[in-house]
Amino acid sequence: MATKYNAVVIGAGHNGLICAAYLARAGRKVLVLERRSKIGGATATEEVFPGYQVSTASYVMSMMQKKVIADLELPKYGWKMIPMDCLFTPFEDGSSIAMFGDHSKTQKEIAKFSKKDAEMYPVFEAFLEDAAKFVRQMLFMTPPNPTSRKLRDLKSMLQHANAVRKLGTKLFRITDLMLMSVSEFLDMYFECDQIKAVKAYYGSIGTFLGPRSPGTAYVLLHHLMGDLGGAGGWGFMKGGMGAVPDSIAGSAKAHGCEIRTDAEVAQILTENGRATGVALQSGEEIFADMVITGADAQTSFLKLCDTKQLPADFVESIRNMRTFSTAFKINMAVDRPPSYRAFKPGETDVDYPNYVHIGPTMEYLEKAYDEAKYGRPSTRPFFTPCVPTMVDPDLAPPGKHIVNVFGGHAPYELKDSTWDQEREKYADQVLSVFDEFAPGFTDSVIDRQILMPPDLERIFALPKGHIFHGELTLDQLIFMRPAPGYQDYRTPIRNLWQCGSATHPGGGVMGMGGHNAAREIIKGW
Ligand SMILES: Cc1cc2nc3c(=O)[nH]c(=O)nc-3n(C[C@H](O)[C@H](O)[C@H](O)COP(=O)(O)OP(=O)(O)OC[C@H]3O[C@@H](n4cnc5c(N)ncnc54)[C@H](O)[C@@H]3O)c2cc1C
Repeated sequence: MATKYNAVVIGAGHNGLICAAYLARAGRKVLVLERRSKIGGATATEEVFPGYQVSTASYVMSMMQKKVIADLELPKYGWKMIPMDCLFTPFEDGSSIAMFGDHSKTQKEIAKFSKKDAEMYPVFEAFLEDAAKFVRQMLFMTPPNPTSRKLRDLKSMLQHANAVRKLGTKLFRITDLMLMSVSEFLDMYFECDQIKAVKAYYGSIGTFLGPRSPGTAYVLLHHLMGDLGGAGGWGFMKGGMGAVPDSIAGSAKAHGCEIRTDAEVAQILTENGRATGVALQSGEEIFADMVITGADAQTSFLKLCDTKQLPADFVESIRNMRTFSTAFKINMAVDRPPSYRAFKPGETDVDYPNYVHIGPTMEYLEKAYDEAKYGRPSTRPFFTPCVPTMVDPDLAPPGKHIVNVFGGHAPYELKDSTWDQEREKYADQVLSVFDEFAPGFTDSVIDRQILMPPDLERIFALPKGHIFHGELTLDQLIFMRPAPGYQDYRTPIRNLWQCGSATHPGGGVMGMGGHNAAREIIKGW
């Protein structure tokens, strides 16, 4: 007789795995089903070029919450992060700023441009850290439905109101942060464009907005949710990003969880309005007391469910979720690390800048968005080149390196062409901009993997290639994510739960969807 599981999880992204790992630790019989041949979803290490272990999608770590790492004992199963020394931003005139975890070192760098901004820097960072602490606390809370009179929602509203009250007058500045453009927000603190550009860059990452768009100040804050150490809290995973799902899977399996790859779910099975299991593409049916989906909301509800069983307003909200992406990634095997024109060894306290922002001015960042608004990829894109092999040489053959380039904006749909026509040409364009900052870089490239939004959708099942399963703006956050009334990891179908980045608090490798969904499920079991 076929095994009946307590829970079947759709998708072995890090959130699905985390949810499964918590349930397995709570003694439940859990099966995770993944459509790809590899676990991890957008968090994977893959041998894209022979002998090179590449973090194909996500590539740097900071956001995973310490509680999850400790609860699941991830270091025991291979989790190891290598903190970064600094974030280096070269400017077009050959100058640069290096930002360190140590504020006094960063202040010295900023003082090259403005003494006033150097003095303001610790004030700004202290405010951001306060805001991050508040939001980190919110990450762990299941958002309430503010229109509900259920006891659990009323309790949750009280909990949230209490956390907000404790902020005192800081609340007003945090409200600015939630609503303002990153550009206007930075204007309140700094005078020089260089420091503003370094910070505003975070407001554009993974989002189809420019630094002058309202809501981008929050995108900056979202990137500061981690507190794992290193410059800005960021680091590389030893062994590439695949070490994240591998360690979670190790922890889950140690408690009896089963994981199957090449197992694409075609349908969520229901009986009398309750989820009873799933049917795979192969036709196999698997039954369980509950189904938990870690796939994006549009796949989960519009493809895997019969939409006739869902409330019309819910279907409408999921359909309207904004997932149009402009983020691209180019992974390269190279025969030497990039040599930046603006990097002068000995002048700053940096051995080699292996985490870099190319996005030298506010105007540069905004213009990159302007073109994308009209359906064209940015002629001068902003991007982050990283060289993980400088700190983890085992990832590439001796003497060779990997360069990850992640940036924007490359619209999912082009107005005048298709990505099949433009993919190679656009990668050349990105590299020609790279050459301006690191002369001769293009000549060092041995091989490359070009991932435009439709490629990210095809390979990783990200909706329209969206790296966070949907934009991180207030209309799609907290009690609005993924749809009003379904912010608490439940869905309109009984025994069907959701745990991926389309749920509160959104995307990035932070594990909160998986963690919070597991808590709600265990509470109600
Ligand atoms: C190019 C790129 C760069 C990024 N860089 C970073 C970074 O450096 N740092 C960072 O913190 N974040 C980064 N992100 C964002 C981060 O990787 C994602 O937000 C996060 O990994 C999403 O995790 P998840 O578990 O919620 O979903 P996913 O990783 O999307 O997992 C969902 C899983 O469900 C599977 N699935 C879907 N449908 C089915 C089905 N029908 N049957 C079975 N399985 C199914 C998918 O194959 C996938 O494995 C990046 C993302 C991308 C794409």
